[in-house]
Amino acid sequence: MRGFDFRAPDSLDGVCELLAEYGSDAKLLAGGTGLLNLMKQELVQPAVLVSLQRVPDLDALSVDSEGIRAGAFVRHRRMEADPAVQRAVPLLAAAYGHVATVRIRMSATVGGGLAHADPAMDAPAVWKVLGATVHARSASGTRQIAAEDFFEDFYTSVLEPEEVLTEVRAPLPPAGAGWSYQKFLPRSVDDYAAVSVAALLALDENGHVKQARVGIGSAAPIPLLVPAVGAALIGQPPTAEAIAAAAELARDAVDPLDDLRGSAAYKRDMAVVFTRRALAEAAARAERP
Ligand SMILES: Cc1cc2nc3c(=O)[nH]c(=O)nc-3n(C[C@H](O)[C@H](O)[C@H](O)COP(=O)(O)OP(=O)(O)OC[C@H]3O[C@@H](n4cnc5c(N)ncnc54)[C@H](O)[C@@H]3O)c2cc1C
Repeated sequence: MRGFDFRAPDSLDGVCELLAEYGSDAKLLAGGTGLLNLMKQELVQPAVLVSLQRVPDLDALSVDSEGIRAGAFVRHRRMEADPAVQRAVPLLAAAYGHVATVRIRMSATVGGGLAHADPAMDAPAVWKVLGATVHARSASGTRQIAAEDFFEDFYTSVLEPEEVLTEVRAPLPPAGAGWSYQKFLPRSVDDYAAVSVAALLALDENGHVKQARVGIGSAAPIPLLVPAVGAALIGQPPTAEAIAAAAELARDAVDPLDDLRGSAAYKRDMAVVFTRRALAEAAARAERP
């Protein structure tokens, strides 16, 4: 690993000043679980490492009628275990609970987990399903980015080098909505997914699907939201046949790679299978208003 300057400002303004000064020569350090691996492999070689550890208020987490707000420095473990998150957005708690091991979840942060932009991570597709908004700040101001528009390519988000992700906000799912998080792990329980699927499904008073949103991870250069799958179910009772037909639409939406977790063709099949399972579980959990 190459040498670097280490800075640990105690305010967000201090972080933004350093990012403005050093631009792409600087890298933010949150939990370090992703960045340090890239640095050890010399894939990333920042001249300056800017730690977020001492910045106050980045670890705020709240749930109210407006929705959920998670600060960039909230650890995965807290997202998994917080009773208010478990109650209001169980899909999100479940996805964070599926990340690697407790040791990783105790370190990795919400902001690092989005900015890292690895399409194999668990939570990003869920934030997309929830319709989240990412908040970012730089020396020149703040901006909000729809999670849907946040990811550009493998390990690439729309964040500029001088921007720090400060928090993520999402509205609460509709009352009674069913949910499911499916992570296909052909190798070991602490691995990245071969394919992961997040589903949220709400019924109307007749038991017909009012809203269905499906996100798929590990299946393309970015975590995917697959509107066609949800749209195919709207207005119908969520029967096994309707779900199977909708899940089949995942096949053409994904664009997986061959790797040690399976061939691209196999992962395409698994995207369909796990979309079907996720929708079936979400439908079984959904309650009529
Ligand atoms: C062995 C192992 C297994 C793993 N398995 C999984 C898994 O199965 N599923 C899963 O989802 N994740 C998994 N992870 C974790 C995941 O891949 C990332 O490492 C983690 O989410 C990054 O979070 P972090 O806080 O550690 O970020 P860091 O490593 O500190 O940073 C990652 C990147 O984000 C940038 N960054 C960090 N915070 C901010 C911010 N606030 N604003 C702007 N940029 C920022 C950094 O500059 C860096 O580029 C695993 C990690 C390891 C080491």
